[in-house]
Amino acid sequence: MEITDLKYLQATSKNIRIDIIKSISAAGSGHLGGSLGLADIFIFLYFRFLVHNPSNPNCAMRDKLVLSIGHVAPVLYASLAHAGYFDKQELKNLRKTGSMLQGHPSLTSGVPGIETASGSLGQGLSIAIGMALADKCDNISRKIVCICGDGELQEGQVWEAAMSAAHHKLKNIIAIIDKNNVQIDGKTADVMNIDPLKPKWEAFGWNAIECNGNDFESIESCFSNLNPNIPNVIIANTKMGKGLAEIENNYHWHGKAPNTEECNRFLNILV
Ligand SMILES: [Mg+2]
Repeated sequence: MEITDLKYLQATSKNIRIDIIKSISAAGSGHLGGSLGLADIFIFLYFRFLVHNPSNPNCAMRDKLVLSIGHVAPVLYASLAHAGYFDKQELKNLRKTGSMLQGHPSLTSGVPGIETASGSLGQGLSIAIGMALADKCDNISRKIVCICGDGELQEGQVWEAAMSAAHHKLKNIIAIIDKNNVQIDGKTADVMNIDPLKPKWEAFGWNAIECNGNDFESIESCFSNLNPNIPNVIIANTKMGKGLAEIENNYHWHGKAPNTEECNRFLNILV
């Protein structure tokens, strides 16, 4: 990656983290930890990888993103705003009554760039595979990207979906697992161990690749090693709360909003 590109992505991810903190603090509720941990993956997707057009969100040949873990909507909304889908000022209306930026992505609240409602854990990969299967039937070669949580993989429906993608020989589906090793009420290893992940996905017929999901060069290397002939899954090792050392890997920050004092302190760390 060119150093200028790397610096641009790093600067953008910092700005998105700032907006995530501000928007969740202003809302008084929301999911901070996972949103911060996924900021680098989202920046890479929206600024380097996905084919999309913010001035024409429904353009026919766009790639599609399904956010199966809809509760980390703040990182999606901040990414869409920075990519140019809507005014960044809108981010301060997160979770407000009547706002288009609801706590989970909605198709009816008017957010441009959203492909599906999501948030009921375990369902997103099935939705994405339905999209990929429809495109295969129509001879459309766009990419369908689905972001899942690691705790979410405890849902049986995910593995039924994984099995069907290989069965239908889908080449255009890319699952990204936010592997931060924590979930709402503890460590994934304690709640229901999901490891070892790579051989599990490979056993289901997927090409599985691992990266440091908070390092742009590692992310780029991962995306350049996709297998064009079978379904792909990227196991992105991330830190919940990335960027704020005092909350990193702390599952108590899964769904907690910073108060005004915490918000100011966090922003001072990042700027
Ligand atoms: Mg997790």
